[in-house]
Amino acid sequence: MKGNQEKKIIKTIKINVDKCNGCRACEMICSAFHATPKYSSNNPARSRIRIIREPLRDLYVPVYAGEYAVAECAGRDKYTIDGKEYDECSFCRASCPSRDEFKEPDSGLPLKCDMCEGEEEPLCVKWCMHDALILEEREEDADEQEPKNEQIDIEIGLEALADKFGLEKITDAIARMSQKDQLN
Ligand code: SF4
Ligand code: SF4
Repeated sequence: MKGNQEKKIIKTIKINVDKCNGCRACEMICSAFHATPKYSSNNPARSRIRIIREPLRDLYVPVYAGEYAVAECAGRDKYTIDGKEYDECSFCRASCPSRDEFKEPDSGLPLKCDMCEGEEEPLCVKWCMHDALILEEREEDADEQEPKNEQIDIEIGLEALADKFGLEKITDAIARMSQKDQLN
């Protein structure tokens, strides 16, 4: 049966920190692509990739928005690589309470990279003229139980709202919305 198993494409973006010059083109295009309507505005605060920048120390670290974290870490690490010291949280992908990155500025809802769903190539990769972001693809057996991206996004959004307003208020609001829907 294994021969007939469905395949999925795993996309990986390789980040070369040494090649990033902090131009922020990736932040611009990501936020424009995800604006509503599409390309109507660009605001790096809405980008799903952020450049952790310290120009005086020549540090530019592209970081992708990953998972939502309810609480900040109790312990943090610092890294020294090739003689450069990187601050705690520099490489962290979490949308967490300790910083503003990876949060929708108006609602505070967590942002997560969706690999530019629907596009052939992630736009940040396309717009990076310095080859700091390189796309790689590989094939893997699909896991039938694996939840779809959209479902994961809904769960992350609901979890964030429940943390902010309390589960009871969210459940009440959904019940009211569903009643309204039935009446229409
Ligand atoms: S577009 Fe490339 S070089 Fe410019 S900030 Fe983004 S990752 Fe760095
Ligand atoms: S892959 Fe797309 S969604 Fe993800 S950070 Fe790059 S531009 Fe944004």
